[in-house]
Amino acid sequence: MSNEKYDSTRETEIHREQVKEFMLALADDITKRADEHDKSKLEEPEKSVFDAVTHRLKDLKYGSIEYKESLAEMGPGLDHHYEHNRHHPEHFKGIANEKTGLCYRAGVRGMTLVDVIEMFCDWAAATSRHDNGNIVSSIMANMHRFRLGEVLSTVLMNTAREYSMGRNSSMARSGWIGAHPEYRNWVEEVSEKRDEPDFDEKLCLGYYPFDGDFGEVEDRVLKDRIVRVRKSRVCHMCRGPIKVGTRARTLAAVFSGELCNYTWCEDCCRSMASSWNDSGRRLEYRWELGRRRSEEVGLLAEQKPQPQEEE
Ligand SMILES: [Zn+2]
Repeated sequence: MSNEKYDSTRETEIHREQVKEFMLALADDITKRADEHDKSKLEEPEKSVFDAVTHRLKDLKYGSIEYKESLAEMGPGLDHHYEHNRHHPEHFKGIANEKTGLCYRAGVRGMTLVDVIEMFCDWAAATSRHDNGNIVSSIMANMHRFRLGEVLSTVLMNTAREYSMGRNSSMARSGWIGAHPEYRNWVEEVSEKRDEPDFDEKLCLGYYPFDGDFGEVEDRVLKDRIVRVRKSRVCHMCRGPIKVGTRARTLAAVFSGELCNYTWCEDCCRSMASSWNDSGRRLEYRWELGRRRSEEVGLLAEQKPQPQEEE
């Protein structure tokens, strides 16, 4: 052992170089992706399909027969697009385990960080496609649809806030809503005020909760309506209890071959209906409420399968 005092400078410099090398490799790839994004849409076989169908899809209700027909028309073009673009979860078909039947590295699980960044920016840009498009509700919906989990979803929310990405997000404009004094006032106000005006069912159902992507051709909404609840359950958005006898929106859909059921409580339905006028502001509050509740009870915000609402 020498008596000389150890100088960490050299080791730190070596470490700095190594980190820099890794970060620049990612940055390089991000730059390439930024240049290449959706270029395949400008060429055949995709171009003619997107020419013919995309403008039509805008005006159609997601999951409707007309929407399905238009999407089916896109079939080969859409398949080609997914096949050549890593920023879509559909690109990653996964590796099936014959014994267990489970599929590994399918969807977002097959992605790299660079893929995730491109996907996220794609969603943020897609929020301008719909009148009440909103990056928060987009992340929220995709969190369940693509099993993002709460940590990744929250990281995406943080990114939307930090970089002011995604249209119509009051969160992106005014900072993190959880820390916002208005949020606390609002939660108190809502928990006390029970004489809220009735929400408009059509406006509520008109809000499409799975924004940001075309989905797969086989995806379909089996039902989507407002019902009187007969079995108590947890709200998909705010994670609060939905009581028997109250109204709720229930939606059953097949996404990527999997049956998914969603139920939203009366207050969350109200926030969907008002999203046409308040730029999705209430939706964000409901989402934040759900995130906090999930954290409090130590549950992942990913939904466990719930009983289907009876007819
Ligand atoms: Zn709710």
